[in-house]
Amino acid sequence: MSDLPNGSVRTRVKVPLAFADGYSVDAHMVTFRNLVDGREHLALILGEPDDVPLVRIHSECLTGDVFGSARCDCGPQLREAVERIADHGGVLLYLRQEGRGIGLYNKLDAYALQDDGLDTYAANTALGLPQDARDYTAAAQMLKALGMDRIDLLTNNPDKAAQLDALAIEVRERIATGVFATDHNVHYLRAKVLQTQHTLPLTELTAG
Ligand SMILES: [Zn+2]
Repeated sequence: MSDLPNGSVRTRVKVPLAFADGYSVDAHMVTFRNLVDGREHLALILGEPDDVPLVRIHSECLTGDVFGSARCDCGPQLREAVERIADHGGVLLYLRQEGRGIGLYNKLDAYALQDDGLDTYAANTALGLPQDARDYTAAAQMLKALGMDRIDLLTNNPDKAAQLDALAIEVRERIATGVFATDHNVHYLRAKVLQTQHTLPLTELTAG
C-alpha cells in the first residue's frame, strides 16, 4: 500500500516505568502527528533498538491493563512485552482501540452476554458489532515515522503480521508471547484460538 499517509513524530519524552511487581525500566514515550484515525496512540521505545527492533502492538484494555481484570490476559501480556522489548531493544505500540476496537462500554456489554453463555466473538455479533474492528494502519504509520520498516513481531496473532506486511512493514520473524491462563480467562483464550487462529497451545488452556 504505497498511498499510506505519512505520520511524523510530535514529541519524545523519557518516562521511568515502575511496575507493581518491582520491575522498572526507562521508556521513551513518543507521540505522533497525522495518524489516520486521529487517535492519541503511543509508542514506548525500550532498550536499545538495533536495525531489526522487537515490536509489540498492544490494544488498549482499560479493565486488564489498569485494573488487573482476570477476564482477559492483557495485563500480563503488556507486562511481559515491556520487559522482553527492553531486553532486546524495540518499541511497544499502545493503540487506543479498546475492546478490539468496539469501545469500553460495548466491551462491558459483551461481558454481560458472555456471562449468559456466549463466547467473546458471538457476544460481539449479538450486539451487532464486528468481531474484531482493529486496524493496524496507524501502527504502520508509527513504525515508519520511527524509521522501523523491518521488525520482529511479538504476537500469537497471524493477522497482525499479515496486516503489517500489507502496509509495507516487513515482519522478519513472528515471536510467540507467553500464555497467561487463569480460571477466569480460559474460555476467552480458547475462543481466540478456535475463532481467529491464534497460535496459543490449546493443551495449556485446559482450566485448572
Ligand atoms: Zn483485555
